[in-house]
Amino acid sequence: MSKQYMNIFERITKQKVPVIIFGAGYAGQVILNTCIDHNVEIAAFCDNKKNYSGQFMLGHRIIHSSELHDLFPEAIFIISAADINDVVIQLNDLHYSQWHAGGDILKFAEIGKHKYDTEFSFLDYAVSTCIQCHDAYQSPDKLFLRSVDIVITEKCSMRCKDCSNLMQYYEKPVNYDAAELTASLESFFSHIDQVNEFRVIGGEPFMNKHISETIDWLNNQEKVGRVIIYTNGTILPKGQTLECLKNKKVMMMITDYDELSKNHDRLIGTLDEHNIEYHTDKAQNWTDCASIKEHNRSIESQKEVFKNCCAKCLFTIMDGKFYRCPFSAHVDKLRATPLYEDDYVDLLSSSKELGHKIKEFIFNKDYLNSCDYCVGRFLSDKKITPGIQVSEPLKFKQYS
Ligand code: SF4
Ligand code: SF4
Repeated sequence: MSKQYMNIFERITKQKVPVIIFGAGYAGQVILNTCIDHNVEIAAFCDNKKNYSGQFMLGHRIIHSSELHDLFPEAIFIISAADINDVVIQLNDLHYSQWHAGGDILKFAEIGKHKYDTEFSFLDYAVSTCIQCHDAYQSPDKLFLRSVDIVITEKCSMRCKDCSNLMQYYEKPVNYDAAELTASLESFFSHIDQVNEFRVIGGEPFMNKHISETIDWLNNQEKVGRVIIYTNGTILPKGQTLECLKNKKVMMMITDYDELSKNHDRLIGTLDEHNIEYHTDKAQNWTDCASIKEHNRSIESQKEVFKNCCAKCLFTIMDGKFYRCPFSAHVDKLRATPLYEDDYVDLLSSSKELGHKIKEFIFNKDYLNSCDYCVGRFLSDKKITPGIQVSEPLKFKQYS
C-alpha cells in the first residue's frame, strides 16, 4: 500500500477526535468504505442538503451542517464534496480547522471492492471528479473549474413551468450558431487551464442540429476532462450527432420525465447499442427557483443570497458571454433585468484585460445584480413537483 495513503490515515487517527465525512454522495461512500477497510472509524456524514439529514448512509448517520457544533464540537473532516473550496470556507466559518482532501484517499481506493447502488461508470465518474477537483484546489497556480455549462440552444421540446434555465419565458427561442459557440470556447480556453466537465445544455441540446460541431470541439480540447450532454429523452440522436457521442469523453445525462420523455427507452437502446456511456435519473429535487421578480434587497442582503446560493458557481457560457449561473445568463438574454455589464464577461471582446476579467469574475465576485431578481437556490429549499408543463410562454417584465 502507498506510503502517502498510510500517512493520511495516520494523520487522521492520531488526532483522537471524531472523523466526519463532509459530503454524502458517491465519493463520500467510497471514502467511507476505504476508511473502514483501514480501521479508521467514521463518526458520521455531514451534508448541506436538508433532506439528507437524519438518514443513514451505509449504516452511518447523515447530519446537517447546522447540527455540527451541537453534536461534534471537535471533529476532523474528510471532504468528499467536489466543491472543496466552498466546504473549506464553510468549515472555517464554523471554526473547524482540521480537514483533509478526500481526493487524496480516493486516488488509492479500490472502488470495485464494494457494492454501491449505481453503475460502475457513474461511480468512477463521481470519484474521478472529486480527485481532479481536489488536486486542482491544492495546485492554486492552475486556473481550474470543476464544471462549466455551454448553452447551445434556447429551444426545448418541453416547456416546464419551473425550468431553472428559464425556458418557459422564451417567446422566440433560437439555436446558437456553431461558429459563434466555437469562438466563445476558443476565447475562454485561452485563459483557462482545465475544466473537469463541460456540460452541453439547452433547452434540449438535440434541438440544435449543429450540436456535433460543439461536441467535437470539446472532445478534441485536451483541457476538457469530460463532455456531459443533458437531455430530456424526447429526441433520438442520429447521423453526425450520434457519431460525436461515441467519443469516450462523452457521457449522456438523461432526465426521465416518465411519459413526457417519450423516447427515453429507445434512446437508452441506441446508447447501449453504440456503447455510449449514460446515466438516467427521474426528474427530482426541483426547487421553486425560476420566478423573476425584483426584490429590492440591500447590497448586503444580495451578498448573503449569493453566498448561500448553491448555483453561484454554475458557470455558464451563453451567446458569447461568461456568466456565474444560468439564472443570470437567461435574465440577461431575456432582458428581464436592466443591462448589468458587471454580471458577465464578454468572451468575444478584444480587451487585453480579458484573462484578468475572467479570473476576477471567478474568484472575486460577491454578488450579482441579477441576484436581486432571483429567489436564490438553497440546499435547504422545499422540493416541488418537477416537469409541470405550460402551454404558453410565461409573462415577465421586460426592460429595453
Ligand atoms: S425539459 Fe424542462 S427543465 Fe429541461 S430544459 Fe426543457 S423546459 Fe427546462
Ligand atoms: S441568487 Fe444569484 S447566483 Fe444564485 S441563482 Fe440567483 S442570480 Fe444566480
